[in-house]
Amino acid sequence: MLLDHNSCYEALVTRDPRFDGVLYVGVTTTGVYCRPVCPARTPRRDRCRFFATAAAAENAGFRPCLRCRPELAPGAALIDSANRIASSAAHRIEAGALNEAGIDDLAAEFGVSSRQLRRVVKRELGVTPTELAQTQRLLLAKRLLTDSSLPAIEIAFASGFSSVRQFNSLFRERYGLSPTALRRSRNSQTGEEALTIKLSFRPPMAWTTLLKFLADRAIPGVESVEADRYWRAVKIGQSNGQSNGPYKGWIIVERAENENTLRVEVSLSLARALPSLLARIKNLFDLDAHPQLIEARLGSHERLREMVDRRPGLRLPGAFDGFEMAMRAVLGQQISVAAARTIAGRITAAFGEPIETPNPNLNRVSVSAALLAQAGGADLTRFGLTGKRAECLIALARAVAGGEVKLEPGVDVAATIERLKQLPGIGDWTAHYIAMRALRWPDAFPHSDLGLRKALGESSPKRILEIAENWRPWRAYALMHLWNSQ
Ligand SMILES: [Zn+2]
Repeated sequence: MLLDHNSCYEALVTRDPRFDGVLYVGVTTTGVYCRPVCPARTPRRDRCRFFATAAAAENAGFRPCLRCRPELAPGAALIDSANRIASSAAHRIEAGALNEAGIDDLAAEFGVSSRQLRRVVKRELGVTPTELAQTQRLLLAKRLLTDSSLPAIEIAFASGFSSVRQFNSLFRERYGLSPTALRRSRNSQTGEEALTIKLSFRPPMAWTTLLKFLADRAIPGVESVEADRYWRAVKIGQSNGQSNGPYKGWIIVERAENENTLRVEVSLSLARALPSLLARIKNLFDLDAHPQLIEARLGSHERLREMVDRRPGLRLPGAFDGFEMAMRAVLGQQISVAAARTIAGRITAAFGEPIETPNPNLNRVSVSAALLAQAGGADLTRFGLTGKRAECLIALARAVAGGEVKLEPGVDVAATIERLKQLPGIGDWTAHYIAMRALRWPDAFPHSDLGLRKALGESSPKRILEIAENWRPWRAYALMHLWNSQ
């Protein structure tokens, strides 16, 4: 994004929530930086410095505002940065990549050296990967200090610090405060079982439509939508004896009233997996989207205008777990959504690890690729899949378990689509559908889709691709509008 001083100031004066998380303002007289939605008095134009990320503002010496709380701003979308590596790395860092491994490992994921990665991130985001990770940790810690009753030591680890000493000293150095100065709750650790965290989004948000999409596809035992709340049983991290997991527990997500936020309840058992957990929830509910950008583009096309007006804030449902989502996509080939859901439930009941949760409907975690990779075709066909589909699923599980295919946001989209299409039984439609949801690629477009053809009243795939040229880079959102119009 180009930060033009005048339009940034305009967003600030109008407290425009559409720019929340898109820009931050540092006020030179106070040394504090804010979100554009801050309720405090608007500073004078010549006292404002604008930044694209919280990390850049902190790097320039500004401290986060205690009123608007920059740590609560929605994130940036994957497509925002012109440089794919920089924006992907930023997402991986937000999800805790540098808490679990070093910068060399992260650089290797993108096929570059750590020096190159540092350079490109610095150029695009104005900070180094390490500075970005430090700010993320501090902001998560600040949020937990203010909003939770977790003991400070737990907060240090949950935010990704490797020691309490490091946490305390960085917090004081950067914010000029002791961590305990932010404690709002009276007594720490009162035997509560869950943490509550709010995640912001840029309005509008078509919450009911999104929730219905997820409810229709919820895997029995793992997910459940009840009374406008989304429940999920969760396991994060490998069972490989390393320090980072696995962590098991549950989450509940619902829309907060009269606020542009989702309210997330997280079992305490997942506290140490928070960075990864929150990134997954943001992916699933598409919280980083910029509805006004997407709708300005799509709404200017005659075929979509009415649909866009009817469903403002329509989201692109993502994935909590890339493999689980891809498994569902394969199971859904040529059968109804409900039938695919039933089969996914049977496979999960047989292969998913049992878990206890406060909701009797949640009793399994999602089937891992590693477990399914060991299955034989006959293990699966008894659940109602065809032999071909079983073969496809096992090939997919092996590719994911073996690391040849990574199904998460930030990976190289074109290369991943190609790799997926080399697997038996995965064609263009499935590969694009997986890219759209698990890789969070907003321009993915399964153009041969039957519902799409019907909605457009066009039968030629070539013609459909031509029409959709105008919808780039938001073709996946156009598809969601067209599906919903049916
Ligand atoms: Zn503020």
